[in-house]
Amino acid sequence: MSDSQSAQQLPLLPDDFASALVIVAHPDDPEYGIGAAVSAWTRAGKRVGYVLASRGEAGIEGMDPGRSAVVRTAEQEAACAEVGVDSLVFLDQPDGRILQTAQLRTAIAREIRSFRPDIVVLLNFQQTWGGRHFNSADHRNLGQAAIDAIGDAGNEWIVPGARYDGVQRVLEFGADPTHRVDVTDDLDRAIASLACHHEYLAALSDTPVEEQAETIIRSSLLWEGDRAHLGFRVYG
Ligand SMILES: [Zn+2]
Repeated sequence: MSDSQSAQQLPLLPDDFASALVIVAHPDDPEYGIGAAVSAWTRAGKRVGYVLASRGEAGIEGMDPGRSAVVRTAEQEAACAEVGVDSLVFLDQPDGRILQTAQLRTAIAREIRSFRPDIVVLLNFQQTWGGRHFNSADHRNLGQAAIDAIGDAGNEWIVPGARYDGVQRVLEFGADPTHRVDVTDDLDRAIASLACHHEYLAALSDTPVEEQAETIIRSSLLWEGDRAHLGFRVYG
C-alpha cells in the first residue's frame, strides 16, 4: 500500500489516548517510520516512551559489539531527543538472539506497569515484510513477547506486583495498515531522528546519512496529495 488512493481509504487513528509505549527489538527500529507519529503525538502533549530489547550490538559490520553497544545507545538517546521522547529503557537482550522467554515477557510487563500506556506500538512482527522479504527472528520474537507481556502485566499471579490492564489498543507498523496518522508536519523531525543513527547508517551505504534518512522516511509514508500519513495495523 503506497498510493494516495490507499491512504484515503484508511480511517484516521482515533485521537483518544494520552500515552504510548513503543516496544521494539533494536536501536533504529522506532526511527524507520514510527518516529514520525511519535513526533506528532509528543507535539500534541502525549507521553511517549521507548523500550528497546537490545542495544543493537551486532548491527555494525566491522565494529566490535562492546563498542557498537555504546555507539548505538548514544545514537538512540539522540534520536529520542529529536522527537520529544525522554523515557528510554534498554532490556539488554542479546542482539540477534532475542527469544520469546518468560524472562523477557516479565521484563516487558514490568515496563508496561511502570509506564502505564494507553496504547502500545510495535514494529512488524509478521513472518514477512509485505510478503516479499522475510522478517528477522528478533522482530518476530520481540513483537510476540510484547503482545503476551501486555496480558502478563494484567495478572499479578503471572508477574508479581500490582496489575495494569489499561492498554486499550496495539498498533503495528510495517504490516498491512488499517488506520493512518497525519504526519505531514513531522517529517523533518522524523528524518533528523533517523539521521541520529549516524554510524549505523554510514556503515550501510556511501550515500550521505541525511539523504538516506530522508529517502527511508519518505518511502515509509502514505501520500494523499501533499499530506503525508503513516499507516498502522490496529488491534483492539
Ligand atoms: Zn530491528
